[in-house]
Amino acid sequence: MDWDIVIGLEVHVQLNTETKAFCSCRVSYGDAPNTHVCPVCLGYPGSLPVLNREMVNSAVMLGLATQCRIRPFSKFARKNYFYPDLPKGYQISQYDDPICYDGYVDIETGGVKKRIGLTRIHMEEDAGKSMHGETGTLIDLNRCGTPLLEVVSEPDIASPQEAYAYLTTLKQIVRYTGISDCNMEEGSMRCDANISIKPKGRKAFGTRTELKNMNSFRNVERALIYEAERQRRVLESGGTIVQQTLLWDDQSGSTKIMRSKEDSHDYRYFPEPDLSPVFVDDAWIETLRAALPELPEARKRRFIRDLGLNEEDAAVLTSEKEIADYFEAVLERCHDPKQVNNWVRNEILRIASETGKSLNASPVPPAELAGLLLILDKREITPQTAKAVLDDMAASGKSAAAVIAEKGLKQISDSGELEALIESIIRENAAEALRYRNGETKLLAFFIGLVMRATKGQADQSLSRDILTAKLEP
Ligand SMILES: [Zn+2]
Repeated sequence: MDWDIVIGLEVHVQLNTETKAFCSCRVSYGDAPNTHVCPVCLGYPGSLPVLNREMVNSAVMLGLATQCRIRPFSKFARKNYFYPDLPKGYQISQYDDPICYDGYVDIETGGVKKRIGLTRIHMEEDAGKSMHGETGTLIDLNRCGTPLLEVVSEPDIASPQEAYAYLTTLKQIVRYTGISDCNMEEGSMRCDANISIKPKGRKAFGTRTELKNMNSFRNVERALIYEAERQRRVLESGGTIVQQTLLWDDQSGSTKIMRSKEDSHDYRYFPEPDLSPVFVDDAWIETLRAALPELPEARKRRFIRDLGLNEEDAAVLTSEKEIADYFEAVLERCHDPKQVNNWVRNEILRIASETGKSLNASPVPPAELAGLLLILDKREITPQTAKAVLDDMAASGKSAAAVIAEKGLKQISDSGELEALIESIIRENAAEALRYRNGETKLLAFFIGLVMRATKGQADQSLSRDILTAKLEP
């Protein structure tokens, strides 16, 4: 039998605000345990939460970037559950009036475009972290109260590959808005997946399971492939799927049961009485819309349309905002998009991966690369020399002009100097010169090689070629 796969994803994005969602404790990662806590995030009786306006800004920004409708009046709710890493015994979240709803993200898999609907984006707070050791469990509450956005997709995702594309695209959009770095390893982006299968073409959904504990996009894809296959085997052998939460185990490449899946009524959501509703008026929304950067898809289309770049180059350059920003900063000074693209894609990204530094902190800032390319355009150095100069610039932090002057790398374009050199080369290789004059013209490459070797690659190649051809004429 053929089966349809139905996948919905819930993505948690940890916001990079200065302070927590409802208190003034700093949002931190990797600091000593329990150093960023206060009565509010520790859930002391009588303490009162105060909404962080930056969390609302971030929610609206992401809502606008994903074509959501923004709810002018949204409320917070308490989601009750007991975990030791959430001392209040409830999480402040949003339930029936999330701040953003009805949006979408356009994805592409294997050249096919598809629109994935977003049910909602809501604001909530994170829990702390339990660390299970051999002597017991320790709790770090630094993360408790960190602002999160939960992005819930419609069950529009029809394959593990589409799930991967959706996550990649969503991450790109979030990073462009600047509200989170979306680092899955540090937990600033987390994903849970709901998956079910049904006979091909049938309308009604099958029973779904929920997958948790996947720490990379590739693992989400692997877990979904595994779980779709498991469900197919169960159903084809006459069994039934039980609604439950499964933990992905990366080591064994399989899932294990965590708990039977709860429904939302199990959480006893009720309106949060300590926070007033959030009113977001049009003026607030428009201020944020104006602050929104050009988004990746639009920027890619502009690079193709206005700069004449091909689809692949434009996709690489716009994959991260900082790459696109770097590229455009260089382009302001040198005006050949294809040349700048080649240098950024081949050399600057290579240096970034070798040094482990992002383009924002590149040892060769945009103005310095532009300086090198302008010198290259004036043919003061050869392209081969330029690459070596760039590596020197990256290592020393010096400008192109300084490296070239220090190492005497200027291209030799002085025809008098080259003529003298070429005459002596021809004298020293009289046999080859004779063969050339007798018609073996492919020996020209041999002579050019000698000129380049004698000048350590600094001779102007086309000028050398002209002089050689003239001097070797019978
Ligand atoms: Zn606090």
